[in-house]
Amino acid sequence: MRGKLITLEGIDGSGKSTMSSRLKAHPALGDVLFTREPTTDWIGEAVERAIHSDTDHLAELFLFTADHAEHIAKVIRPALESGRTVISDRYSDSRYAYQGMTLHGRFEDPMKWIQDIHRDWTIVPDLTILFDIEPEIAVQRCSNRSEQTKFEKIELLEDVRANYLRLAGEDPERFVIVNTDRAIKRIEADVIDIITSLV
Ligand code: ADP
Repeated sequence: MRGKLITLEGIDGSGKSTMSSRLKAHPALGDVLFTREPTTDWIGEAVERAIHSDTDHLAELFLFTADHAEHIAKVIRPALESGRTVISDRYSDSRYAYQGMTLHGRFEDPMKWIQDIHRDWTIVPDLTILFDIEPEIAVQRCSNRSEQTKFEKIELLEDVRANYLRLAGEDPERFVIVNTDRAIKRIEADVIDIITSLV
């Protein structure tokens, strides 16, 4: 039986990576492959370079999308086909929400345009947990990071958050929204319940 694909999404500072590390150590989850986007292979490194420079937004989208294709081909699909559960810290919805923001004005509906170029080859997650938080709190949380990205600004993250909420509204069967302006232990308990009810 094909494994389940679960993705963790949300704006920078919403707590995805923190939760991903905690889930790795959680005994209730068993054999899970944890992964992330951008990846750490060479295309992922190119994405990181784009994130930390003023690369053209369309070029940046295609780098992210190439990384996504390689990630699916080399990591996600083989794991799912061998029956493993996969949890990815960021995945295709990050592209729709973030590049939907950066490409604002270049297409009539950038988020839909980006979804269209993923159609027929991306693997749609079985479950997406949207870590939802006010951008002001998220940016505050990120402020003590050693390296910041160009996305970690309140006005930009307001738009990204709105895009995520639109995606969740359009696909309520797949998305579960979790309020992450709470104690980590409470968020973790909810996330574990959500995941164990699927796998
Ligand atoms: P993301 O991966 O979504 O960008 P992180 O998991 O890196 O977010 O969290 C950003 C910062 O916020 C980190 O310093 C982390 O320790 C802190 N953090 C995460 N979750 C919470 C929480 N529920 N309450 C307070 N701080 C948190």
